[in-house]
Amino acid sequence: MDIFSVNPSNGKTIKKYTSHSDKQVEKKIKQTHTAWLNWRNSPRAERGRLLKAMASVLLERKDELSNLMALEMGKPLKQGIAEIEKCAAVCEYYAANAADFLKDQLIETDARKSFVTFQPLGIVLAIMPWNFPFWQVFRFLAPALAAGNCGLLKHASNVPGCALAIEDIVKAAGFPQHVFQTLLVGSDKVDAIIENKHIQAVTLTGSTGAGQKVAQKAGSLIKKTVLELGGSDAYVVLEDADLELAAETCVNSRLINAGQSCIAAKRFIVVKEVEKEFTRLFVEKMKAKKIGDPFEEGVDVGPQARIDLRDELHQQIKQAIKQGAKCVLGGEVPKGINAFYPPTVLTKVKEGNIAFEEELFGPVASIISAKDETDAIRLANKSVFGLGSAVFTKNISHGELIACTRLEAGSCFVNSQVKSDSRLPFGGIKQSGYGRELGLFGIHEFVNIKTVFIA
Ligand code: NAP
Repeated sequence: MDIFSVNPSNGKTIKKYTSHSDKQVEKKIKQTHTAWLNWRNSPRAERGRLLKAMASVLLERKDELSNLMALEMGKPLKQGIAEIEKCAAVCEYYAANAADFLKDQLIETDARKSFVTFQPLGIVLAIMPWNFPFWQVFRFLAPALAAGNCGLLKHASNVPGCALAIEDIVKAAGFPQHVFQTLLVGSDKVDAIIENKHIQAVTLTGSTGAGQKVAQKAGSLIKKTVLELGGSDAYVVLEDADLELAAETCVNSRLINAGQSCIAAKRFIVVKEVEKEFTRLFVEKMKAKKIGDPFEEGVDVGPQARIDLRDELHQQIKQAIKQGAKCVLGGEVPKGINAFYPPTVLTKVKEGNIAFEEELFGPVASIISAKDETDAIRLANKSVFGLGSAVFTKNISHGELIACTRLEAGSCFVNSQVKSDSRLPFGGIKQSGYGRELGLFGIHEFVNIKTVFIA
């Protein structure tokens, strides 16, 4: 089967790739397993040195790699460069901290000596999405390699160029042959790969539906999974919020990666006293964003990653309007063969509306009116998702209390947009998934937390 890389700005095919055959996949898994038998025993200092080298390769190639993203999935160049710099930073972070995170932990018992040691598991299969084609992979890969695991990547089918570039970056950094490889396969091949005895664990970043299927398969074989899935993040704007800051932050968060981010704010829950002013500021700032060619300087919003995904998004918006939402900005498909969609604002979004209940994976904001703070928190939590959330208030200690104890999500931010940071654990609850990436918790997901007891 062929895999096509298509430019979402004009619908033209960039390149055709031939998928790996079942035989080739099997061979690659074997090669990576063989590589792991040595890699598992490599000194931690050596892994750190290679991770640092990988950071340098990423930074050297950031222009080329951001060009590739702009071509394959429409990310504006400046955002692409920032993504590559973030990948370099996560490599540097684990280079500096992994040895400490993986140090044996002595625990006093009645033994002569008892301790916990963190041992690698083997090959982790990574199934990744196209929206941050490098970042999603590196945030898994850097801690995996640092912990002595190996990786195989099944990337989203629309970014094969990025997938192969990652393999090349690992090679160029000087890692031993085959510790990481890309498998060019469709999602129909994933079950068979999970069944392979050398695959020890699976990490998937993607939609809830894909997560369910992969976790079901891996679970049936007792193989561990980490799932980073969809979200419909709620940003709560309270009566005493700095509205200018709230509107600015909310717009920036909604439009990250042309709205195609799991932790982009999607539902804006505003207490009724400030709803009118917040909406005015919000719409004004959405209107000011520049949409266009990702290669053009100053463009804030590129195309959606694929025409079919843009069309699905538009159907959701039409349905939301049918169900009572009011479209006050955007909402129209531009002419021509491309995947563009304009920044769009829906108001009067209520519980039960598709824009409230489902994830809108594009530049579409839903403004939801709340009677008061209690109602706002109820509405924020009334979601099958629980990835990120934020609250805007000038009362910082009250904001902290809400973030800490009231909002149901894996990350809660006060007066800021939700973002991932190498130093902080990242992940969701409810249908947004389980497990954590990044920080100390991330590196402990795919290790054998082994107890050693010496009598
Ligand atoms: P997707 O369709 O679920 O695809 C993600 C990956 O899963 C791709 O590699 C895809 O391969 C594969 N896949 C899809 N169905 C599968 C199946 N049945 N079995 C095995 N693999 C399967 O998601 P997407 O459209 O690329 O990304 C958007 C979604 O990802 C959104 O819901 C977003 O919120 C979520 N996301 C979550 C996070 C997070 O950190 N929580 C981050 C980014 C994105 P093919 O491309 O070959 O189908």
